Amino acid sequence: MKEKKKIIRNGESKIQKIRFIVQSAFILLCVWIGIEFYLFTRYLESNGTTAFYHRPPGVDGFLPISSMMSFYYFISTGTIHQAHPAGLFIFAAILLLSLVFGKAFCSWLCPVGFISELIGDFGEKVFKNKIKIPKWLDYPLRSLKYLMLGFLFYAVFALMDLASIKAFLDSPYNQVADLKMYYFFANISRAALIILASLFVLSILIRNFWCRYLCPYGALLGLVSFLSPHKIKRNPVSCIDCGLCAKACPSRIKVDKVITVLSDECNTCLSCVDACPVADTLDLKSIYTKKKISKKAAAIGIVSIFMAVTGIGMLTGHWQNNISKEEYLVHYRLMDTYGHPTGTAAVKEFNAESNKNHFPDDSKSLKTKN
Ligand code: SF4
Ligand code: SF4
Repeated sequence: MKEKKKIIRNGESKIQKIRFIVQSAFILLCVWIGIEFYLFTRYLESNGTTAFYHRPPGVDGFLPISSMMSFYYFISTGTIHQAHPAGLFIFAAILLLSLVFGKAFCSWLCPVGFISELIGDFGEKVFKNKIKIPKWLDYPLRSLKYLMLGFLFYAVFALMDLASIKAFLDSPYNQVADLKMYYFFANISRAALIILASLFVLSILIRNFWCRYLCPYGALLGLVSFLSPHKIKRNPVSCIDCGLCAKACPSRIKVDKVITVLSDECNTCLSCVDACPVADTLDLKSIYTKKKISKKAAAIGIVSIFMAVTGIGMLTGHWQNNISKEEYLVHYRLMDTYGHPTGTAAVKEFNAESNKNHFPDDSKSLKTKN
């Protein structure tokens, strides 16, 4: 007969309320940025006749491709590109956060992740039996976000060289990418609305549908998270195999069957740690020192890393971009004529043009890719 284990109850307070507060605060910040950006567009729409409202730099955080290119440009040249400097710091903050605490950005700060979670909770309340995608379909669906990330990496890093990345960052298209994105949603097409509505319905029926299957940003952070030294670890000696951790995991990870959670789907939400009824059995731990990171310390660390890196951007004067309101007024009028190269041939042409026009002196060192 199996010997009954002596249980020391887990007395540590739960962290989910704090996570909810952090998520709420961050989404309110995003709403505030949205309102400020709306006021900025009103100024442009009035052709500069109403009071000027500063463009909120935080909107750069919604331009992940431009931010990624800006980050690459910074790593390659040591120069902070001035079109969307806040985007560079936000991107760097999210990368560093993922390096230290895994995909924590998704479950603690990302507004899309938060909305997705709320929709999932709503769906669970209304439809008790949610659709569970079978494994044979789940794996190929999960690979979709990696395919999109791969395509993005190919388009940027394989097809474009440094000269054309700079040319793209300098381009009027990149300078008004935030405005283009705003008007995409403000004047949303029927097709885009149908896609958004479908994603909403799918997220009700299948928890975290967007994050789990389609978000390329999450895919990138999932890959980076493998380098994080902090992992969820289970102590098999004190574990009573109750399965509550696996039941609580929104990413459907079988936490109760592994010693260390090594998954690109783990977003460090700590729901499993909260759910564990036995003391010192399931914790976030450093794989090197084997030391436990308390839930509060993890929460403080996650928020602090993000604030510290973005704070450096603000304090060093690399937050606001250098585009004047006069330039924005001109861009606003011409915005519909701005585009970017699509397709391999167009990118190659763009590379050649960029080398010729943007780096006339050092075009040898920034050779066009063939
Ligand atoms: S394993 Fe734990 S921390 Fe990771 S996603 Fe699942 S519940 Fe959250
Ligand atoms: S919640 Fe998970 S780790 Fe904790 S005792 Fe139950 S099965 Fe073990």
